[in-house]
Amino acid sequence: MSFTQFGQTIGLSAPLLRAAAELGWTIPTPVQVQAMPAILRGADVQAQAQTGSGKTGAFALPLLQALQGQAPNAPRRVRALVLVPTRELAAQVGEVLRSLAQHLPAPLKVAVVFGGVSINPQMMGLRGGADVVVATPGRLLDLVNHNALKLGAVNALVLDEADRLLDLGFADELAAVLALLPAQRQNLLFSATFDGAVQKLADGLLREPLKIAVESTPELDPIILQRAIAVDTAKRTQLLRHLFKTEGWTRVLVFVATKYAAEIVSEKLYKAGIFATPFHGELSQGARTQVIEEFKAERWEVVVTTDLASRGIDIAQLPVVVNYDLPRSATDYVHRIGRTGRAGQSGQAISFVTADAEAHFQLIEKRQNLSLPREQIVGFESTEVAAVVAAPVGLAGPGNGGIKGKRPSKKDKLRAAGKLPMPPIA
Ligand code: AMP
Repeated sequence: MSFTQFGQTIGLSAPLLRAAAELGWTIPTPVQVQAMPAILRGADVQAQAQTGSGKTGAFALPLLQALQGQAPNAPRRVRALVLVPTRELAAQVGEVLRSLAQHLPAPLKVAVVFGGVSINPQMMGLRGGADVVVATPGRLLDLVNHNALKLGAVNALVLDEADRLLDLGFADELAAVLALLPAQRQNLLFSATFDGAVQKLADGLLREPLKIAVESTPELDPIILQRAIAVDTAKRTQLLRHLFKTEGWTRVLVFVATKYAAEIVSEKLYKAGIFATPFHGELSQGARTQVIEEFKAERWEVVVTTDLASRGIDIAQLPVVVNYDLPRSATDYVHRIGRTGRAGQSGQAISFVTADAEAHFQLIEKRQNLSLPREQIVGFESTEVAAVVAAPVGLAGPGNGGIKGKRPSKKDKLRAAGKLPMPPIA
């Protein structure tokens, strides 16, 4: 069934369907098919779905449908609140809501607020209220404390990427926000994973929710080709350059373990004639936004990033993701590779597996029910053997971060804690 037919069947208005069509949504995604009718009925929903599944549309369209049907909101009070873990996701969700709302006859105001930038423009932006607020929890509380908005009229709450909200330590802020909301409201919780803490949060928040789980891991999705390449630690940058040239890549997101590595690897690629730039938490918010915009606009060929970019960022047609350093956990692996193969596009996720990281990668594979052949690329064949004293290989282990052949020294530990610069990277 086409998106328009489906939308008509469940009662979405023509202006919303027109906007969805303009975004190129021709067929509803599984999470949309399952969640939207329930949300429109006013039910609470618990959905296991990750970025890339179409989850934003799944909650945004029913929210907008409900808001447009309600009496004019004057003076405007916040009626729908979407809490997200990161600034990037806040901006992205706000953009989707605004695009979808653009043809509504009575305009709805969508405000997006997040920390790390001056609060004043956001306070000004909230003058006259807003129908929907998309926010990171800390900044939302700051704004409430500044009397810039009130949450007493919120009748729909969305927690987007709830696992990430908890991962990033927002549990206290979340509890403080929930205490400000009216008891009578609809609650929607989206999360890629439902480990203990997330499920506990869901159980405390949701009332008789409809529970939905769409494919929980992208590797189940045949459009992401996963590859593992065995390579020596010191050859990784050269291999990256080689693959970039020989495989005809145009846009690549490369994950590394540290900000330092992001700087060094991108610099080396840049010097080798590849337009590469780093992306990490030490860049200002303005610089981060600019990198993403320029990457989307194909100004950069390669962005080398820490796990900061592993969630939330939606870059359509991102064909290749490379794990230069392995992720620390199986969950991070899922989030990283989920940056490619989005919205029906095919993609490749390539992991560089050094001898020292082999055991760690095997654990990730085990968790993901995955078994990838180790490719050897001619000219870059792996020659190293794993250190005799293996680094800890628990899933929270160090990926490729350890120093080969040694127990971690005091310096290594300080490096790992970010207190000393990392040693040079090949
Ligand atoms: P999300 O999982 O919400 O981050 O969405 C990922 C991407 O899928 C975004 O670029 C959306 O615009 C796109 N998208 C959402 N729903 C659909 C759909 N039904 N058909 C095609 N693309 C979609």
